[in-house]
Amino acid sequence: MSNNHSGLSDFEVETFSNFYIPLKFSDYLHQSHPSKNNNKNNFDKIIETSPEALLNAVTGIQSDDSTKLKDYSFFRNGSHKINGLLEVLNNLVNSLYQAKTLTEQNKIPLVTLIGPTGSGKTTLGDSLEKGLVNYLQSKPAYYLVIKDGDKRFPCPYFEEPINVLATNNIVIPNSLRREYIIKDSAELCPHCSSLLNELFTKKVTGENNYTGWMQVFDDLLEARRLTPRSASLELTDKDFKKKFPLVVRNANRGLLHISIDDTNIREIPQINYQLLLKLADKQVVLNDGRVFKPDLTVLLYSNESILMDLAVPDNITMKDFESPRYMPLLDRMLPVFVRRNLSYTCEEDIYKRANLPFDHFWPHSLSSIARFSVSTRIGNEEEDTETDLARLLELYDKFEKMQVIQSDDLKFIKQRLNLEFDEPPVDGWSSGLSTRKANSELIYLSKNNKRTCLTPLIVDEFLTMHEDEFEDNINLIKKHNNNKMLIDLTVGYLSMLNEKKGGLKYLENEFSEFYSLYEKKLMKNIEFIETIKGREKIDDVLQEIATKKLNLGVGAPENLANIIFDFRDKTGKPMQFIDLVEKNSELIKDFKSFDTFIDWNNYKRTRKPSGDDELKFKRLLNSLKDLKYCDNCSKASIDALIEEELIG
Ligand SMILES: [Zn+2]
Ligand SMILES: [Zn+2]
Repeated sequence: MSNNHSGLSDFEVETFSNFYIPLKFSDYLHQSHPSKNNNKNNFDKIIETSPEALLNAVTGIQSDDSTKLKDYSFFRNGSHKINGLLEVLNNLVNSLYQAKTLTEQNKIPLVTLIGPTGSGKTTLGDSLEKGLVNYLQSKPAYYLVIKDGDKRFPCPYFEEPINVLATNNIVIPNSLRREYIIKDSAELCPHCSSLLNELFTKKVTGENNYTGWMQVFDDLLEARRLTPRSASLELTDKDFKKKFPLVVRNANRGLLHISIDDTNIREIPQINYQLLLKLADKQVVLNDGRVFKPDLTVLLYSNESILMDLAVPDNITMKDFESPRYMPLLDRMLPVFVRRNLSYTCEEDIYKRANLPFDHFWPHSLSSIARFSVSTRIGNEEEDTETDLARLLELYDKFEKMQVIQSDDLKFIKQRLNLEFDEPPVDGWSSGLSTRKANSELIYLSKNNKRTCLTPLIVDEFLTMHEDEFEDNINLIKKHNNNKMLIDLTVGYLSMLNEKKGGLKYLENEFSEFYSLYEKKLMKNIEFIETIKGREKIDDVLQEIATKKLNLGVGAPENLANIIFDFRDKTGKPMQFIDLVEKNSELIKDFKSFDTFIDWNNYKRTRKPSGDDELKFKRLLNSLKDLKYCDNCSKASIDALIEEELIG
């Protein structure tokens, strides 16, 4: 967890607070008063509890606590962007909604993000915090500053100024209190309360009318723009008890992050749990023994094992049971199960952003590692076969990216994610490889091998590290990789045959010409077109491009309609030549000549081309460069395919 949880540097926090001039207390009251202000809603706008502000920051409007899955744009845009996790985010928003409601009932629920390592709990907390920062920049909130002559005493808890009117030991007429006070306001913190009591007693002499009171207020008080507040603490911190009142102070009117490290959860002193329970009752005992009622949102972070650790064991005594670490604490928690990412395309983006120490990446390396890592988080049941795994990979990728899924499939996914119950999901939970672990394994492989490129061979090495646990997953990924290499090699070889005409570019251009002619023929029923040769039958032109230029088998155009337009319907993109090869490599006529392209038997023995073959081999590697293969990648791919007896 980062130390500066506000997401702002100290300098920015300073600028933020100094940018706005203080508001006169009477103006603050005026702005927050329903009847003295034209806009009645203004009252709610400037006085919000911390959970209310957070909820508004996330939802933009009051949430209606619906059970239908919603896509909150808050999490999809801006600096607090989160990928996927649709149902997790919905649960989180529902918890924030409950937190807001419970705060109105004088409770502070412990919103608990529970999930395995690397599931992104901290990222979620950071996202909420950044959201709150942005919210406070666009929507003013205020805190109390007490004035004594030239001296200024900002409330150490950054309290809402309205609390002055709710504080009993300050001499203010009850009629005035009733006029301005709102239901959520609490008594001022002990510090402000005793200081103000003193100053008011000195200032208030005899009779005062309302105008007189406003003058007293303005002499003694001002409202300043609230800065984003937050603080973090670990429940296992050995000075937890001492630090607790301090972090509550720093996080008041904002977010309090408390992480629970499960490794020594059993050694956490009872007092820490008691302090949390008190906090849940909106009670914090300060170091001088006085009690403060905080206004904050609590975010607890915990590993999935907390559910076991806090569950009541069989052999405990009644005395143990009454201890706060068991049921009472669970009662106060609003659990949000944060599973791991299940979209392999999102996972690939994470690896891309990690700047792994390789000079070059085989174009499918990160995608296959992403597929593998995500697949290990799916389906650890006996009956889940390789086919199910492949299907689930595709379904989850769509679900995470909120693409359309058939209703049966959606139902199936919802079941696996346990959406109907308040329980952790089947997939993306405890088992499997975390992104963090995969990343560090790749860094290790890069250093250990001193290889500059993440070749298919190193990807294999990575997979082999997990063969004891995830054999099925490895088979699935290896098949996928072999297929990708075979396609690339096919396209590379065909490009090489056309290298004088422009290689891959030539093939793609011809295919796009073929594609648009085909479309014309089917959509507009055109039979003849004008070419440089004159008026020609469109079928003849198509046939010529297919067989002579693209080296597609005889009769190809007739076979292609389904493949081409199916692809467009499914992906929303026009097909490219390389996609065609992927969908149907049998159409490629000239790839057959690859078998005799060089002396493969000799290559198999020596793992290098000899004599005339050397130059041909170089030409092939050169053509593969258009497909983003370096020489290392190309050679590793060819060797791997030979090893699997797929070529040669
Ligand atoms: Zn105060
Ligand atoms: Zn490479």
